[in-house]
Amino acid sequence: MHYTGTIWRPPYEAYSLLIQVTAGCTHHSCKFCTLYEDLPFKFRMSPLTEVEEDLGEASRFYKKVPRIFFTGANPFALSVDKLKTLAKMVKQYYSTYETIGCFGRITDVSNKTVDDLKELRQFGYDGITFGIETGDDEALAFMNKGYQSQDIIEQCKKLDEANISYNFFYLTGISGSGRGEIGARETAKIFNQLNPKIIDASMLTIYKSSELYQEIKAGNWKEESEIEKLIELKTLIENLTIPTRFATDGASNLIQVRGNLPTDKEKLVKYLEELISTVDEKVLREYRVNLRHL
Ligand code: SF4
Repeated sequence: MHYTGTIWRPPYEAYSLLIQVTAGCTHHSCKFCTLYEDLPFKFRMSPLTEVEEDLGEASRFYKKVPRIFFTGANPFALSVDKLKTLAKMVKQYYSTYETIGCFGRITDVSNKTVDDLKELRQFGYDGITFGIETGDDEALAFMNKGYQSQDIIEQCKKLDEANISYNFFYLTGISGSGRGEIGARETAKIFNQLNPKIIDASMLTIYKSSELYQEIKAGNWKEESEIEKLIELKTLIENLTIPTRFATDGASNLIQVRGNLPTDKEKLVKYLEELISTVDEKVLREYRVNLRHL
């Protein structure tokens, strides 16, 4: 199989067949991000011959695969024609496949019409994961995410219209010291207008190679304390009113909370409240600074 650099996938795609159709990120400019720094290029689409070889190899081991996950930071940036070509290739090897997922950026939806998206849905594209990070416009601008909260609403509404489901990654800590709760409330306001199936929260962990580290050194930004991050997480859960699956997964989270909202809201909030009132910042901080890799 052709896998280039570290391969990232959402935790809930653990049972999907991972096929590399792109590597890297078209944007590659978020200040906190170090995810694809091990690649010698910013973004590339895999040659179709490689994709075909990988599908052929996988099909010798796995005869029936219901879901394929295309790897790379945002394969959804590819043109409709390219995405259709890739789906047709999948069909040659897995004639009964049901859906194709991948990561996407909000800006990848902007250049597609609702009709384009409806067509992609017919080719199986569904359950696209967006690293939204936050609905806090100030944080989105500072971190150079390349879109604002209004774009999140507009583009996700197009996905709703096309019947393409989507999941969000939230980044606890992105609003910075003193603004965690504000960011969480702003985010809930945006998310509550949409229909993410899953909201998966990670916690900001800052590495020295990131632009954000330089901003901190220059005195332009201050990291939230670990307890503040937990308060932010609690505030987000408290303010979400939509039915969705909420989870903190992955190494960056100091604690794991999982549940279905709104059913489990009270339970999750209570758990976090108890933790916030008893936990030691120093212990949490030690975990964060010793986290070598996400
Ligand atoms: S956070 Fe996502 S969009 Fe931003 S640079 Fe990293 S991979 Fe690209």
